[in-house]
Amino acid sequence: MPSTIIEAKNLSVKYGEIEALSKVSFKIDSGDYVGIVGPNGSGKSTLIKSILGLIPFEGEILFHGESLSEFMLKKNVGYLPQKMSFIDQRFPATAIEIVVSGLYCQKKFPKRITGDDYSSAKKIMQTLAISDLATRSIGKLSGGQQQRILLARALIVSPQILILDEPTVALDPQSRETFSLTVQKLNRELGVTVLLVSHDAGSMGKYASKLLYLDGKIIFYGTFEDFCKSPQMTNYFGDNQHIICHRH
Ligand code: ADP
Ligand code: MG
Repeated sequence: MPSTIIEAKNLSVKYGEIEALSKVSFKIDSGDYVGIVGPNGSGKSTLIKSILGLIPFEGEILFHGESLSEFMLKKNVGYLPQKMSFIDQRFPATAIEIVVSGLYCQKKFPKRITGDDYSSAKKIMQTLAISDLATRSIGKLSGGQQQRILLARALIVSPQILILDEPTVALDPQSRETFSLTVQKLNRELGVTVLLVSHDAGSMGKYASKLLYLDGKIIFYGTFEDFCKSPQMTNYFGDNQHIICHRH
C-alpha cells in the first residue's frame, strides 16, 4: 500500500486580484513521479512555491500528515527552482564546493564543512555520473553540467521529495535526455518522490508515473493511461490529447 506523502486540501493562492490557484486538492503517494504540466501562467510555479511554504496560501498542505515546517526541519525536501540564467563564468567556486554547500542549511553554528561532507558530495556526484567535474570552476561548465551540479546540491541532504521547476528548459535535447534519465533513476532506484514541472506535457509521459494538469485549477490528475482513455480529456484537449498520448 503506497502511503500519502503530500496532501493539499482546498489550496488557493491570490496575487492581489489575480487568483493563481483556486481550491486545488490532491494527494501524492510516496514514490510517485508526478509531472506537473499546464500552459504558461497556469499556476505551476505557484503550486510548487506553496508546497515549499515560500508564499502564503489558503487551505492546507500536509506532509505525512504534519505541517510543512515540521517536515522541512527534517530536511526532507530537495528543491531546484525555475532557472532564469546560468552561473556567471567568473563565479569563484568549484563544482564540488557548490554541491557541499547544499549541507549548509542543516548545519548548526559554526557551519563547518567536514571531510565527511566532501565524501557525501563525492558519492552523490558519482551517482549522477559527474565525478569528473568536481574540481572544475562552476561558471565554466555547460548549462546541462551546471544543472546536474545543482541537482547534486539538492540531493546531498538525501531528500524524500525532490521538487524541480522546469529544470531542462535551457538545455539542449541531449542534455535534457541525460538529465531526465538521471531523475528517473533517482525515482526508480532510490525511491525519491519527484514533482517535476514542465510545460511540455508530451515529454512527461516517458518519465512520470502521474500527470497533474493545471490551469488555475486541476484539469486532470491521474495516470497517463487514464488521461489517454478519458473522453472528458478528449473533449477538453481535442487533438492535443492525442499529441500528449502519442509521445508517451
Ligand atoms: P506558471 O509557473 O504555470 O507559468 P505561475 O505560477 O508562475 O505560472 O503564475 C500563475 C499566475 O500568477 C500568472 O497569472 C502570473 O502572472 C501570476 N503571478 C505569479 N507570480 C506572481 C507575483 N509574484 N505577483 C503577481 N502575480 C504573479
Ligand atoms: Mg513557472
